[in-house]
Amino acid sequence: MKNSLALVLLATTFGFVLPGSSTGEKVAVLKPIPDKLVVLTFDDCNKSDRSFVAAELKKNGFGATFFVTEGLGFLQNKKHYVTWEEIAELDKMGFEIANHTRSHPNVAGLSADQVAAEIEHIEKRCSEYKIPKPTTFCYPGFSNSLTAVQVLAKMNYLFARRGVRPEYLDGGRGGRGPAYDPKSDHPLLVPTTGYAGPDWGMKDLHWAVAQAREGKIAVLCFHGVPALEHAWVNCDPEDFKKYLRYLKDEGCTVIAMRDLAEYVDPAKRPKDPYAPIKAIKK
Ligand SMILES: [Zn+2]
Repeated sequence: MKNSLALVLLATTFGFVLPGSSTGEKVAVLKPIPDKLVVLTFDDCNKSDRSFVAAELKKNGFGATFFVTEGLGFLQNKKHYVTWEEIAELDKMGFEIANHTRSHPNVAGLSADQVAAEIEHIEKRCSEYKIPKPTTFCYPGFSNSLTAVQVLAKMNYLFARRGVRPEYLDGGRGGRGPAYDPKSDHPLLVPTTGYAGPDWGMKDLHWAVAQAREGKIAVLCFHGVPALEHAWVNCDPEDFKKYLRYLKDEGCTVIAMRDLAEYVDPAKRPKDPYAPIKAIKK
């Protein structure tokens, strides 16, 4: 009873309410985390998000998150980056549009006010294009800080994705990272289990999916397919199709980051957000 009350409170606070009973009573119920649960994310607003990736995801019935920033070449190079109109189309297609900051800065070097301003700008732009207010975030360049975690919490973000470090080495050309373990990890410091690049491929995808068991979740990060301006995180379109086919053939449940709220209670957070990372650092 106490638990169900807590869940209702949580649902009210965070606004996610799942259909609970035949009487129409709204009760938030967490689904059990299945093995091979995979979160798919795409960073930086590459043109391929709309011109290639979205249709491939739809063919497979996969959910995904597009992390939006007006940094990098977004404002100057509309050949290589999507427009806001295209971002709105991705939203209408059912994908998650989420926050990757206004200018793609290293947030570890910013004050709380500066981080908040970076986040608010993308929220404002989303509102202008009638896109729901983002509830998930991705740290630009994978750099994070306690200040940024605290700002995100204050601004009611539910989940935020970091990179593969410090648990895994990052050569900056794609690589492996830890699976997300909701039992210990802070939801605003969700690790990346694999990010595509020249040093990441099918065997690494197999490995990432294999980590997604016993309550752990594989979180995958892609950039452009292809990444026209950033060769170090490039993913070949033909390889990408093979990756999606593998996820399908393996029977993976492939979701957007916001959909984690169906499986994970984001209010359950370690007091020290970095304690789990320090404890398992290799
Ligand atoms: Zn980025």
